[in-house]
Amino acid sequence: MANPSSTIADNLQRVKERIARAAVEAGRAADEITLVGVTKYVGANEATALFKAGCHDLGESRPQQLWDKAPQIPGACWHLVGHLQRNKIARTLPLATWIHSIDSERLLGAIDAEAAKQNVRPQLLLEVNCSGDVEKHGFSPDELKVLAPRLGDYRAVDIRGLMTMAAREGDVATAAGNFRTLRALRDELQAAVPGNVRLTELSMGMTGDFKEAIAEGATLVRIGSALWEGVHCGG
Ligand SMILES: *Cc1c(COP(=O)(O)O)cnc(C)c1O
Repeated sequence: MANPSSTIADNLQRVKERIARAAVEAGRAADEITLVGVTKYVGANEATALFKAGCHDLGESRPQQLWDKAPQIPGACWHLVGHLQRNKIARTLPLATWIHSIDSERLLGAIDAEAAKQNVRPQLLLEVNCSGDVEKHGFSPDELKVLAPRLGDYRAVDIRGLMTMAAREGDVATAAGNFRTLRALRDELQAAVPGNVRLTELSMGMTGDFKEAIAEGATLVRIGSALWEGVHCGG
C-alpha cells in the first residue's frame, strides 16, 4: 500500500489543480478561493499529513473533533463547518478561527457574548438553508432579510458572509441553483446591512459540487472525501 502521506499530498495536489481549473473556467483567480480541508473522516495523523502537504485551513463538522485535533496540529487555521450547540461555544472559540454554521440569532448572540468575554474575534458565516430541506440547519432567506439591519449590533464578532450546503437529493444542476440563490441573497443582504458588516465570503461547494460552487462565486470550498481517496480512514 502507498505511503498515506504521499497519497494525501497527491490528492491535495489534484484537488488544487481542479480548483484552479474551475477558477479559470469561471474567469476568476484561483487565489480568491480558499480550500478548507475537512478532516472529519480521519484521525490527527492524517490531518497532520494534509497540513504538512500545504493545506493550512482545516475543517471539522463536530466541535468535539475540533477540540481533539486542533491542539495536535499547531499553526493550522481551524474552521467549524457543522452545527454548534450553545453549551460548546466556550471551548470552541479559543480553537476555531472561523465558524461557518451560525444558524440562529440566539447562537449568534451567545457567540458574541462569549467572544467579548474571551477577548477573541471569531470570523462567522451565516448558514442559509437554500434548498428548503426540512432536516437542514440554517436560516431561511426571509429570516436573514429581517435580521440584516441588526447584524451590526454583534460587535465582538466578524460576520464575513454566508454558507450553504446544496440539496442532499439533488444533482449538480440543483446544487448550482442553490449556490446562485446564496450569491443573490448575499448581494441583497449586503445592501441592507449596516456599514460595519461586509459580507464578502461565500462558503459553498464540497467534493461533489465544488466546480459549480466556484462558477457561482464561492470563496471558501469545504472539501473532505476527495482528499482522503485511497487513505485508510480508521481514525
Ligand atoms: C463533511 C462536510 C463537508 C465535506 O464533504 P465532502 O463531500 O466529503 O467533500 C463539507 N461541509 C460540511 C458542512 C460537511 O459536514
